Amino acid sequence: MIKIENVSKWYGPVQVLRDCSVNIDKGDVAVVCGPSGSGKSTLIKTVNGLEPVQKGRITVDGTEVTSPMTNLPRLRSRVGMVFQHFELFPHLDVTENLTLAQVKVLGRSQDEARARGLKMLDRVGLMAHKDKFPGQLSGGQQQRVAIARALSMDPVVMLFDEPTSALDPEMVGEVLDVMVKLAAEGMTMMVVTHEMGFARKVASRVIFIDVGGRILEDCSKDEFFGNPEGRQPRTKEFLGKIL
Ligand code: ATP
Ligand code: MG
Repeated sequence: MIKIENVSKWYGPVQVLRDCSVNIDKGDVAVVCGPSGSGKSTLIKTVNGLEPVQKGRITVDGTEVTSPMTNLPRLRSRVGMVFQHFELFPHLDVTENLTLAQVKVLGRSQDEARARGLKMLDRVGLMAHKDKFPGQLSGGQQQRVAIARALSMDPVVMLFDEPTSALDPEMVGEVLDVMVKLAAEGMTMMVVTHEMGFARKVASRVIFIDVGGRILEDCSKDEFFGNPEGRQPRTKEFLGKIL
């Protein structure tokens, strides 16, 4: 579903991704972890073409992201992305937030977009808040609306970049619960997170990137958590700090 092949990226003279290769199958939940500045956000943004790469090839559901021929806006409409900071439109209410891109990008009618959006809002348990503005919701609720908004576009994959790290601790659980449910329903997901509880519960794969943008580990969750002796020294050091 997501194929990253020998990708390298530089910001000016600084190399931030080094020969990265990752294969994420349909239904996989790939958790990406690693120290700050290692290139996790950069890697995940390359998947929907938000960050161009200088070397290598990336395909999503058969579409080559790295090809100059690819219609990136169309590709992005099929790749859901949720960031650390909820990026809802503050001047639009929840329902309008859910429908805007469906109408503008997918050409759906207002009615169709509204029906789809509200169905997704129900899925994240927030139907009662459909007429509120983002500023009237808690951080956790806003992040769940952001997930519902992404799901409204019928994505083939969902990318998450530290979706809970800006939240107060008591709100982390409600967002992770939504993600656990999505995973159980078979969504293909790439998730940058330090929530190792989430990784243990739902990851099918764990990818560890070290500073400098090199992928040091790409293995099953059981191998990652269950076989510390098999891990690279840098991975052990990282896990020692966050577990
Ligand atoms: P964090 O855990 O702090 O979110 P990260 O693993 O997501 O870190 P990235 O944000 O991908 O790391 O950054 C990787 C490297 O690229 C860092 O050294 C960062 O300083 C650098 N970098 C990121 N964005 C840019 C940019 N727009 N221009 C120049 N350098 C950048
Ligand atoms: Mg980051």
